[in-house]
Amino acid sequence: MSKTTEIITKVQSEKRTALLETEAKMICEDYDIPVTKFKLAKNEQEAIEFAQEIGYPIVLKIVSPDIIHKSDAGGVKVNLKTEEEVKNAYNQILKNAKNYSQNAEIKGILVQEMAPQSTEVIIGSVKDPTFGQTVMFGLGGVFVELLKDVTFRLAPVAEYDALEMIKELKAYPLLKGFRNNPTVDIDSLVNIILKTSNLIMEHSEIKEADLNPVMAYEKGAKTVDARIILEA
Ligand code: ADP
Ligand code: MG
Repeated sequence: MSKTTEIITKVQSEKRTALLETEAKMICEDYDIPVTKFKLAKNEQEAIEFAQEIGYPIVLKIVSPDIIHKSDAGGVKVNLKTEEEVKNAYNQILKNAKNYSQNAEIKGILVQEMAPQSTEVIIGSVKDPTFGQTVMFGLGGVFVELLKDVTFRLAPVAEYDALEMIKELKAYPLLKGFRNNPTVDIDSLVNIILKTSNLIMEHSEIKEADLNPVMAYEKGAKTVDARIILEA
């Protein structure tokens, strides 16, 4: 059984449809989609150890099946640079989570590599009830939320389609290095689109996937947050 099938089977057996960030990122790794290094800490001491292991600066995030949008719950603390900051953030996140949802089940706190700021893109998928799996690409932030500047294709997509998806965005000039924006590595974005297409073609039980954001660099790209929702 593949790692991905193993994870999905476990989630289904627990009658969940939303994967934890750890589960979604393990699936990304299984499909060679680059993600930030991560380790799940069960207590403050582990968080400090893992921070050292991964290397500062780091990010801490809440991991709970009851909290899907982590920042809404005060569950994300970025750019932590010292042991002291890790301790404080660890406890603050737990407190925020309890305030947000009294009975939330907490699996732990995710310690992860802080990806340097860059152009943020979104790569995702939606299963259309009529047409089946579709792949989505857009630029992060206001481009998706406000301007709805996103493109879709029916999966499976070929390399040519993936490139076309990127090029047809209104904001495409930004990816080509407009004004202050650095030129980004289009090939690595094409690659992630293709891997996402493979994933959803091989797993029809995936209803939605959302790599949001993916940091796009002059060389390479890295997935900072991943969400996967299964069909009920
Ligand atoms: P959610 O979408 O559940 O609120 P995210 O994991 O996307 O939580 O975190 C919120 C924001 O924090 C991201 O959009 C990103 O800007 C920033 N962020 C999260 N993780 C990292 C990371 N590892 N490196 C750099 N920035 C991060
Ligand atoms: Mg996110």
